[in-house]
Amino acid sequence: MGIETITHNLIAVIIQILCLRIIWFPLNIIFIILFTFISHIFIDTLSILTYHTPEAQKDDMFWVMWHILIYSLSIISTIFFLSPFWLGLLFANIIDIWDWLILRSLQKIKKKYTPSSKWGENLYIHRLIDRFRCRLFYWLPKWNYKKPGVIIEILIITISIITILCIL
Ligand SMILES: [Zn+2]
Repeated sequence: MGIETITHNLIAVIIQILCLRIIWFPLNIIFIILFTFISHIFIDTLSILTYHTPEAQKDDMFWVMWHILIYSLSIISTIFFLSPFWLGLLFANIIDIWDWLILRSLQKIKKKYTPSSKWGENLYIHRLIDRFRCRLFYWLPKWNYKKPGVIIEILIITISIITILCIL
């Protein structure tokens, strides 16, 4: 389970702007990679506070509308910020790219030939993030089935956009 790409993108843009402004070359590049990577783990940890059902709920109109909106915003924000923020965007989303694009595709290919294959199950980085959440953030309320949880995600997105406009 993770939070949506739009949120990872916006936080990455903030980190990249601040790193380029505060830290000198080439250390700023290393810090952009490091901090955007770590930001993914922390944002995903907090995703328990927002509306994220682990499984698709295609019969639920609210779920469908929310996902159309959030996926559109994710695609638009990626295109919009790609230049010049591609480095931050890449490392803020690299865990999702590995788990949901690369690893899942490889597993599908494996299962085609060996349906009982369990290969790759332990390579999901989100398993480590879930464990990290259970260890350190077990006290957070679990709102991922609560629809008002979208307000928290909208709030994070709005505050991030205002922050970007202020520091740009
Ligand atoms: Zn994630």
